[in-house]
Amino acid sequence: MSFKVPKGTQDILPGQTEKWQYVEGVIRDLCDKYRYNELRTPMFESTELFQRGVGDTTDIVQKEMYTFEDRAGRSLTLRPEGTASAVRAYVEHKMFGQADQPVKLYYTGPMFRYERQQAGRYRQFVQFGVEAIGSADPAIDAEVMALAMNVYTSLGLKDLKLVINSLGDKETREGHRQALIEHFQPVIGELCGDCQSRLEKNPLRILDCKVDHKHPAMATAPALTNYLTEESSAYFTKVKEYLDVLDVPYEVDPNLVRGLDYYNHTAFEIMITGDGFGSITTLCGGGRYNGLVEDIGGPAMPGIGFAMSIERLLLALDAKNIELELENHLDIYVVTMGESAKLKAVELVNQFRQNGISADMDYLERKMKAQMKTADRQEAKFVIVLGDAELEEQAVNVKEMATGNQQKVAFSELVTYLKK
Ligand code: ATP
Ligand code: MG
Repeated sequence: MSFKVPKGTQDILPGQTEKWQYVEGVIRDLCDKYRYNELRTPMFESTELFQRGVGDTTDIVQKEMYTFEDRAGRSLTLRPEGTASAVRAYVEHKMFGQADQPVKLYYTGPMFRYERQQAGRYRQFVQFGVEAIGSADPAIDAEVMALAMNVYTSLGLKDLKLVINSLGDKETREGHRQALIEHFQPVIGELCGDCQSRLEKNPLRILDCKVDHKHPAMATAPALTNYLTEESSAYFTKVKEYLDVLDVPYEVDPNLVRGLDYYNHTAFEIMITGDGFGSITTLCGGGRYNGLVEDIGGPAMPGIGFAMSIERLLLALDAKNIELELENHLDIYVVTMGESAKLKAVELVNQFRQNGISADMDYLERKMKAQMKTADRQEAKFVIVLGDAELEEQAVNVKEMATGNQQKVAFSELVTYLKK
């Protein structure tokens, strides 16, 4: 019998986890600078939350959720995204009543979607996302987009494209909806079954169809932009103005609609362009969701957020040959010769670690040469060799590997010596 990871999931092994930690560190630092605070929610929620929060007509809810019944017969779902949970927590803990508004949250954690596996598309993946709830100021839209862009640029990524659009308000969407129905009605027979059912329920979704995206009627579909109300268009103009001030370049794409039902006004995606990246070019998606908090049982509070997966971010770094500056932290390797030296080594290594110095030693009773090789491979900054002579003298030569310099140091002075 042999076991493998479930399809669409992956093990992240030592060698890779360091990259994850690095990226997560960059994210934490950035969120701190922008003053977003971390929220942690459960990995499963009631199925209804996602039906409501993500939307019944979305691909996620219709095809991609891991839904199960628990032993008491409740329908639960492994979270496919983070916004519904964040808003649920916001409402449940009455964050709308906090003194400081808007409430700025971020999360990182695994999400689950039953998808066809390909590069950059997994069934379990880790999303980092932010939500700013409680402000309808276009400046916060720009802040959120700038933060997303900053994650990539601060890791050295280039060739990025921030694509933005306005989905307008209710009135905008109603006018556009009617126009879309009229536009697609005559050709609906040529489109896929999903699109046919979307026509009445949510024709905007047709524009987001992955099957029919090359159908000629897609390119000529009425653009939402032409249906923007005066208010919506003024809002969009402001968002763009703030992006200019923040020096974040963007492109307006009137066909950008995004896959989730809850968006209005600002919608955006960050794409990566150029060679070395497979078919998947979208790294991040987000937008404004002014009706969502109310839909989930809270007061009418506007919100905006985005989500990106760490997997796609790491793929992008690989594709662009960007090496992260990962530090190797082995300060000292203790080589031992003989049983008494080993006893002393265990004591010293422990002392080093307790004083904030990373240290390791041999546990396989290997020859000195083999131990030295390990120290080399692990790029130890310092090496000491303990044998009977050193025990006698209560001192040891400390070798700095980068320079080859040696210095005799008394056992009792080792920590102090290494610390400087
Ligand atoms: P796509 O069009 O690629 O399916 P989406 O619209 O479903 O994306 P969102 O739900 O907005 O994506 O999620 C935001 C981000 O999460 C994406 O831009 C991507 O970085 C990441 N993401 C989404 N689905 C997956 C997945 N299955 N595997 C890895 N990352 C994913
Ligand atoms: Mg998707």
